[in-house]
Amino acid sequence: MAEKNLLTPGGHVVEDGLVRLELAEDAMNICRSMSLWPMTFGLACCAIEMMAVGMARYDMARFGAEVFRPSARQADLMIVAGTVTKKMAPAVVRLYEQMPAPKWVLALGNCAISGGPFKFKGQYGIVEGVDNLIPVDVYVPGCPPRPEALLEGLFQIQEKVTGKRWWPVPEELAKERAL
Ligand code: SF4
Repeated sequence: MAEKNLLTPGGHVVEDGLVRLELAEDAMNICRSMSLWPMTFGLACCAIEMMAVGMARYDMARFGAEVFRPSARQADLMIVAGTVTKKMAPAVVRLYEQMPAPKWVLALGNCAISGGPFKFKGQYGIVEGVDNLIPVDVYVPGCPPRPEALLEGLFQIQEKVTGKRWWPVPEELAKERAL
């Protein structure tokens, strides 16, 4: 049977006369990526930038992700925004486990990525990177990252979910990807 040159976002070739469950999965993934529901999970100053992204100027609603949920059970994106203390660590893990699959994690800011300015010899209070606790899909560096950086992180989550980049790539990032 001749293959049609049609590729879905997930990279699956569309063939005639076959029921392809991958196509349904691809369609579901597009829907998921365009309606991510982040959990309200601000831990420190980076959360202010996350709030800015939800407001009118940066308007995360344009990309389908404005429905911040106060319950982990209703969320599929955990944005870890701020410093993860050792006291908070069990709650982070529990909330992650309460999120229904499929689910994604975005580490926002240097604290969530590696401990940021609180990482020093002899520190005893913080987790030096939330990926020591749960799997992280996208890292957005900065102290704090600008709201545009969080939007770029959201785009990268969408790319990860669907296998396709949906929005124009910023010039600097395009150069990095070309290297
Ligand atoms: S990375 Fe900087 S801005 Fe973000 S929580 Fe840590 S200290 Fe605050």
